[in-house]
Amino acid sequence: MVNVNLSGVTKSFGSVEVIHGINLEIQSGEFCVFVGPSGCGKSTLLRIISGLEDPTDGTISIGDTDVTQLDPAARGVGMVFQNYALYPHMTVEQNMSFGLRMNNTAKKEIQKRVSEAAAILQLENYIKRKPSSLSGGQRQRVAIGRAIVKGAEVFLFDEPLSNLDAELRVEMRIEIARLHRELGATSIYVTHDQIEAMTMADKIVVLRDGKVEQVGRPLDLYNNPENKFVAGFIGSPGMNFFFGKVSSKNVELPKLLNKKVKKPKSVPLSLSQIIVGIRPQSINLHPKENGPKIELTENLGNLSYSYVKLEQNSNLTVEMPTHKILKNGTPVEISFNENDLFFFDKVTGARYR
Ligand code: ADP
Ligand code: MG
Repeated sequence: MVNVNLSGVTKSFGSVEVIHGINLEIQSGEFCVFVGPSGCGKSTLLRIISGLEDPTDGTISIGDTDVTQLDPAARGVGMVFQNYALYPHMTVEQNMSFGLRMNNTAKKEIQKRVSEAAAILQLENYIKRKPSSLSGGQRQRVAIGRAIVKGAEVFLFDEPLSNLDAELRVEMRIEIARLHRELGATSIYVTHDQIEAMTMADKIVVLRDGKVEQVGRPLDLYNNPENKFVAGFIGSPGMNFFFGKVSSKNVELPKLLNKKVKKPKSVPLSLSQIIVGIRPQSINLHPKENGPKIELTENLGNLSYSYVKLEQNSNLTVEMPTHKILKNGTPVEISFNENDLFFFDKVTGARYR
């Protein structure tokens, strides 16, 4: 097992810089997830680590070796892509052993490694098949098998589950987590799906526009986001945001919430307005005459989401257990604990505490 370090990594395509000086330490054996919206630079960063792309500036080291100038093949990494990238004319066995055959590994050794990988991945019965007669999940397992057979010390996954349907995605998520426990290889996993990030990661790196927004364990990011972007990105449904009017000691919330709360200490005196956030799980609704009405309730069976119009163009999403479900049009009182509020700067998104 090896650690992976990035130091001052930048990347420009032509005159456009898309990765802006990233420093990261990924511990040996860690399952690290890069998450962020489409186009934020996740794949580019992963390709830089793999050696498929050169950084414009900065260094990448794997273990004690500076690999910045090394070819992909010399880095000890295995890549698993969304589109599997299997050779269609080769069997499962031939796909998995391709790398080893290319560098003239002994036949016996190849056989041993392929059958070990096939056993781990439950592909033993499919070894003679070609990719066209495998399911999406099986193809993705072959792609993972290729990295295992190669003896990769670092596994790099780029949205490997995006092509699978919802049910299979959950299955493969559990499968990859199990594999990681068994193999213990340092893994970097790219996804735009915060649920995958939350469920799979030891450590999440939230990226936006080629910059790191926050690094932390899943629950740290959920409970303690450092800025509005992370607060809104992690958690489902997303955090509710609205404006608060700042006075010398208090923050006044929108009229319907009918509440003044204590102003966080770090809010500068000069500010007159900040952004206030609260998670849908932290709000309660009770029927109350003359209260604001529920615009819509969606019942998911185990829980429900109710939407209440807070202000023009702003809905409050509330998660409720189904036994407390409230019908569309019910007038309600909105209640919550002041400690569950988050405060952010309107311009920079920085968190105030
Ligand atoms: P993500 O994987 O997070 O969706 P990418 O790493 O693919 O994002 O892309 C990051 C940014 O870099 C995007 O703006 C994308 O258009 C740009 N980009 C990626 N690859 C190239 C390339 N080969 N040439 C020019 N621009 C690129
Ligand atoms: Mg990508």
